[in-house]
Amino acid sequence: MERTLSIIKPDGVQKNIIGEVIKRFESNGIKIAAMKMIQLTKTQAQGFYAVHKERPFFDSLTDFMTSGPIVVMVLEGDDVIAKNRKLMGATNFKEAEEGTIRKDYATDIEKNVVHGSDAPETAAFEIGYFFNDLEIQAR
Ligand code: ATP
Ligand code: MG
Repeated sequence: MERTLSIIKPDGVQKNIIGEVIKRFESNGIKIAAMKMIQLTKTQAQGFYAVHKERPFFDSLTDFMTSGPIVVMVLEGDDVIAKNRKLMGATNFKEAEEGTIRKDYATDIEKNVVHGSDAPETAAFEIGYFFNDLEIQAR
């Protein structure tokens, strides 16, 4: 059993597809172990994306991530890190496979609807960034 962090980014919330994204997780056997809606401050977004702080898109990305509410979730299941990344599709929606969330809904390389942790270490950091143990239900 594995856990990962998923975020429905401000563009996904704005597009009214929270339910659609959650439906894709649940219908693919993924359990939601924690969930909340928040709006990040610039400092919080910079802390979350600290690994990207040298990248040219860092300032724009952290502005975008603070531009509206986001839905943050802990997902649980076998191989859920990879499973979630597969459901999301490639970072650049133009390269995303048919039937993925980003292929179906992303409009921009930055505004790409969802975030998903990419490895066990990043998942542990990212889950801890948003949730304490009491807020996560073993499913
Ligand atoms: P995420 O971390 O959000 O799940 P990812 O792992 O597919 O996405 P990363 O390389 O970690 O992609 O980049 C983090 C986010 O930064 C991307 O999801 C996207 O919103 C933004 N981003 C990545 N590359 C670019 C780029 N070249 N130009 C603008 N924004 C970008
Ligand atoms: Mg990433």
